Amino acid sequence: MLSETQLTLKPDLAVDYLFDAHSKYEYEAHIEKAVQYIKNFLDNTSFYSGASVEELRSRKRSIAVNAKENITLDDALHEIKDVFLDHAISFHHPHYVAHLNCPVLLPALVGDLIASSVNTAIETWDQSTSATLIEQEIIRWICNKMNFPTQSDGVFTSGGTQSNFKALLMARDHYAFTHYGINLKENGWSDEVSKFRIFCSDKAHFSIKKNAALLGMGYDSVIPIDTDDKLKMKTDALVQAIEKEKQKGNIPIAIVATAGTTDFGSFDPLETISKIAKEYKIWFHVDGAYGGCYVLTDTHKTQLKGIEYADSITIDFHKTLFQPVCSSAFLVRDTKHFQYVSYYADYLNPLESRDEEFPNLIEKSIQTTRRFDALKLWFTLKVTGETTLGSFQEKVHHLALDVYHNIKDDIYFEVAHQPELSTLVFRFKIPGIEDDKILDTTNLYIKNTLFKSGKASVASTKLNGKTYLKFTLLNPRSTKEDLFEVIRMIKEQGLNYTTNN
Ligand SMILES: *Cc1c(COP(=O)(O)O)cnc(C)c1O
Repeated sequence: MLSETQLTLKPDLAVDYLFDAHSKYEYEAHIEKAVQYIKNFLDNTSFYSGASVEELRSRKRSIAVNAKENITLDDALHEIKDVFLDHAISFHHPHYVAHLNCPVLLPALVGDLIASSVNTAIETWDQSTSATLIEQEIIRWICNKMNFPTQSDGVFTSGGTQSNFKALLMARDHYAFTHYGINLKENGWSDEVSKFRIFCSDKAHFSIKKNAALLGMGYDSVIPIDTDDKLKMKTDALVQAIEKEKQKGNIPIAIVATAGTTDFGSFDPLETISKIAKEYKIWFHVDGAYGGCYVLTDTHKTQLKGIEYADSITIDFHKTLFQPVCSSAFLVRDTKHFQYVSYYADYLNPLESRDEEFPNLIEKSIQTTRRFDALKLWFTLKVTGETTLGSFQEKVHHLALDVYHNIKDDIYFEVAHQPELSTLVFRFKIPGIEDDKILDTTNLYIKNTLFKSGKASVASTKLNGKTYLKFTLLNPRSTKEDLFEVIRMIKEQGLNYTTNN
């Protein structure tokens, strides 16, 4: 038995640092110390210290790991404060409006601590036991939200990129199998596959092209479809493109619609696209990495209409559901499609002892050892609840609209669109100056200067070859005033640059 008094003793044997029954008081002490440093991080006043790469590189000695020299936990925490915590980007800061990084919820952190400490690996039943059931419960919850049928299923993944990979892999293998009797999983490449074509809007996430390349089909297998003035896929252009590829002798196999594009938050017309996919008998994937979680809101019911007809869906809880990275899922309309990824290993899940009673989630995943990421979301749904989550999402959507209305008639700004989700793409402009090169440099200057000052982080992107700034709003604690302050800083920097150049 360990007593409280042992807490203060420094373990003299290395095994005392293992997480087990001997170290439970030490465990508590370790976590408590870490918590003090994390609390300090929350006291950082700006979103970033503004340190340059050179400044951070100069801390080489602290970053280096030296095999010969052990330091105490206190010293290590002190070093990590100096090299990391003092310079980490605070996604929870109201002036961080750059990328799809959300602030996280406390119940989710509790789930993550339990998942990391217990270290359950979601693979086979004998490694995961009831964690399997918890993951499946969360998958059932989100499938129901999507109005997916009872035979639908899903699995947690490392993120939207991996979920999109699985979607394209299933679409490819399913098409090859049902149309040509080709079993790509077992027999490998077939020449037919080089004619396979995938259609998505020109605003779809780059992971569609990247994954097509990883799957051996190449970037050119992805046909980009024009978008309208609301940045949504043009469905007549989609049909024309499918017909054109067929005429060329190519084989359309899938359409990827985006529910919330990364830059503009625009939703492709899911229902119409689902009908087109049905007509051509091809796979219909919805990339809802950004907008899929808006299924919890009242504001976005119309935009998500038609998602229930998808063959597969990508959804990222670490983008818009306030979960720590990673928390993401891939959903499929019919569980039998997981056959295209399943593998039966003698030492883990031999085929002959396959037993529905002991579900092995490894049969659905690309990863073998996989974190118990569903636990964070389980805590969040239990403690925070889906109504509150939905209201947070609506709040950040309305904030994007507030900023839009604030600058749309301002002579110093040009807005690219009216926000459909929680991003706003716009640029600083100088009345009387039409030269896009000058405006591009000015906007990049604004972004870089604000970042370096640690005052605000804004993203940039391109539209029709021109550089724009982007707000991605994910923090329900932010106020209109916080965001108008960032707008004021943008204008200030823009005018500074213009006067000095
Ligand atoms: C972010 C994003 C992805 C990629 O997701 P990760 O979790 O970063 O891998 C895919 N699609 C869309 C639309 C996204 O916004």
